[in-house]
Amino acid sequence: MNLKEKIRVIPDFPEPGIRFKDITTLLKDGEAFKYAIDRMANFANERNADLIAGPEARGFVLAAPLAYSMGLGFVPIRKSGKLPGETVSVSYELEYGKDKLEIHRDAIQPGQRVIIADDLLATGGTIASTIKLVEELGGVVAGLAFMIELTYLPGREKLKDYDVLSLVQY
Ligand code: IMP
Repeated sequence: MNLKEKIRVIPDFPEPGIRFKDITTLLKDGEAFKYAIDRMANFANERNADLIAGPEARGFVLAAPLAYSMGLGFVPIRKSGKLPGETVSVSYELEYGKDKLEIHRDAIQPGQRVIIADDLLATGGTIASTIKLVEELGGVVAGLAFMIELTYLPGREKLKDYDVLSLVQY
């Protein structure tokens, strides 16, 4: 299965000069979607995952079916102010200003092995923040699974202490 040919690249979105990797064309192909989740499940299985976490919004689209397919729980990581219970949060830098990511304080028990899934690894900033949240709760980050990796950016270098899976590289 060639996943790369299922991904659509849209020039100049969301701004001029950016070549946006659009996974919606892959997601609507049932066979390709299942193949991608199954490969992530193999990776998570080999690392004895207890839980799957993912940041909103595209991380949910991968992390939830991954968790379901393995019979594991799913933990959402959300933008500031969305989670109703007691949360732990971390600030991260955006191009202009700052934003916050949050996780429910009781979402992970110390020692649980967590796989984090997201659509795309670019600089690694988003995933570094989700790692902080998981580790702050005592979770062990057992691996990071991405649909896409932009290998011309230093994401993998930033995450060098972790096991990284990416299904498609640019
Ligand atoms: P990072 O934090 O620099 O690694 O950026 C990764 C985040 O940016 C991911 O959560 C992606 O959803 C988003 N992102 C950046 N570029 C693209 C793209 O080309 N397609 C889809 N999402 C992107």
